[in-house]
Amino acid sequence: MRKKIILIFLTCYVLFIGFLYLYLFIWNTGALSADEIGTAVDPATFLTGEELVLSEQYSNIRNLLFFLGIPYEWLFYLLILLLGIGKVFEKWAESTSKRWLFKSAIFTFCLSFASFLFFFPLGFVGYRLSKSYGLSNETFHGWMRDQLIDFWIEWVFLFIIVTFLYWLIRKSEKRWWLYAWFLSIPFTVFMMFIQPVIIDPLYNDFYPLKDKALEDKILSLAAKADIPAEHVYEVNMSEKTNTLNAYVTGIGSNSRIVLWDTTLTKLDDEEILFIMAHEMAHYVEKHIYFGIAGTLLLLLAGLFITAKLLDVLCDKYGGILRISDKTKLSSLPLILLILSVLSFAASPISNAVSRYQEERADRYAIEMTRDVDAGISTFHELTRAGLSQVNPPKLVKWFRYGHPTMKERIEMIETYEQNK
Ligand SMILES: [Zn+2]
Repeated sequence: MRKKIILIFLTCYVLFIGFLYLYLFIWNTGALSADEIGTAVDPATFLTGEELVLSEQYSNIRNLLFFLGIPYEWLFYLLILLLGIGKVFEKWAESTSKRWLFKSAIFTFCLSFASFLFFFPLGFVGYRLSKSYGLSNETFHGWMRDQLIDFWIEWVFLFIIVTFLYWLIRKSEKRWWLYAWFLSIPFTVFMMFIQPVIIDPLYNDFYPLKDKALEDKILSLAAKADIPAEHVYEVNMSEKTNTLNAYVTGIGSNSRIVLWDTTLTKLDDEEILFIMAHEMAHYVEKHIYFGIAGTLLLLLAGLFITAKLLDVLCDKYGGILRISDKTKLSSLPLILLILSVLSFAASPISNAVSRYQEERADRYAIEMTRDVDAGISTFHELTRAGLSQVNPPKLVKWFRYGHPTMKERIEMIETYEQNK
């Protein structure tokens, strides 16, 4: 039975790869219509022939890797369950200590390490891809260092969450999901608060803007929106990547706008001010807080469904999945599997909400700067630097795009100009 499940899963996986290949590489649903050819949304008007070919190839391979990675994660949890690997981890954890904290630490460490090894090849392919297309300039040493930081951070959080979660499951087999959700509120808020000052600096250096003439312009724009100067930062990304980005992070006194140094060096002042105005919209309209509220709402629904499914699956298939009891740590891979499937299913919703906020931020930016040319050329430069698709296929947009597509962003600016 277990072999059969794995075989069926692998067969579906292969069929899915076939579908992806046809969808992404053959059907080419992202082609522009005849009246869009030659306009500002047509990449042929602002990319060189070589950039055009590379961006199409690169985006398609990235999309493929993204979609392949999702069932790959499900396969990982299935193998851990069906091959009894989770059970072995549980035995190790129980034999080494009587204390719950140690058991939880050992079990989550084993699971995190197995996951690190399983996903390493996929991450490495992604790294090599970015490198060979000239997007990343990170050394293998630097990349590996980031992977290890990821590993330790993820393990620490998994350990904390699992320790509390199983304590709750044992306390209340029926309502644990609700109590877990209540606990997740202060935890999420705390995480958002420490992210920019504790977590992010582990990966990169953050500092006030280096170019003082540019800083004056940016800060005077920020002052218009009541954003204090000490909330604007530059981050040293140029030693890792050639792509451009800026973002808003943190909450309360730790909220900040961060501009990648690549953005500051590769764009002209008008384009940088357009990006800054876009980020200011996120800051002023408090999109982070809406984001937290939305995430918590989805988490409530997710935990409820997980609790119900966990009961049904443990009752019916506990033997096959080698879970003797849901209160035991060996049920963790099943909980993570259910959460992963649910979060994939919910990603079109969260992406759509994010795209709505991003569109508002673009609108705010164009209203604030009134610089249509800078807006359009910013999107052209973002496309070039990220080798992005201007008009990705629908499935890619729904599952991957937290921003509107470049075509939509450029069109919005053009409509703004026409309505002016
Ligand atoms: Zn944005």
